[in-house]
Amino acid sequence: MDYEQCPRCKRQRETTEFFNDRGRRLKTCQFCRNRSKEWNHRNVQRCRYTAKRYYYANHNRCKKLNREYQKIYSQENPVKIRMTNMVSHGRIYDTRRGFYNANNHIDRPFIEQLLHDLEGKCVYCQKEMNINSQTESRDKLLMTIERIDNTLNHSKSNCTLCCFNCNSTRANRYSFEDFLMMKYPIW
Ligand SMILES: [Zn+2]
Ligand SMILES: [Zn+2]
Repeated sequence: MDYEQCPRCKRQRETTEFFNDRGRRLKTCQFCRNRSKEWNHRNVQRCRYTAKRYYYANHNRCKKLNREYQKIYSQENPVKIRMTNMVSHGRIYDTRRGFYNANNHIDRPFIEQLLHDLEGKCVYCQKEMNINSQTESRDKLLMTIERIDNTLNHSKSNCTLCCFNCNSTRANRYSFEDFLMMKYPIW
């Protein structure tokens, strides 16, 4: 059995005590971790107060760091950001109309799967869609979420992808099936 010294309690502990349930290596021993967890539990109010005070004291700095991180992240992952925005816009839309359902609301993996199934093409006009968030919002081929039945919410069974142009042309004028035949007739 291997032993090493815990930097907090300065006692010799078995090496296995420095790993958590998920097998991740941690700085302090199991005993110290449990003790600090108990202490936190008994002093919830005090911990919250300290955290809040720290936050307000470092508000501007933290905000700036966060903004910089977000900027780099969105530059590196424009597609991810675009998809996440689509999901959250759908949630806002549904919530306003009172039919938001958390259980089958669209999510990013779902959109990725849809995009893969459609081979990146608009479901109506079959043109290659633009998925990049860097493009202007009025980009005619921008990928958008299309609800098959406009009276229902953004659930997984009610959503597909189409270009901005087709989405705004169909709007509430035509049904999904009709518009599909108009744009891409299969005789
Ligand atoms: Zn310790
Ligand atoms: Zn289209």
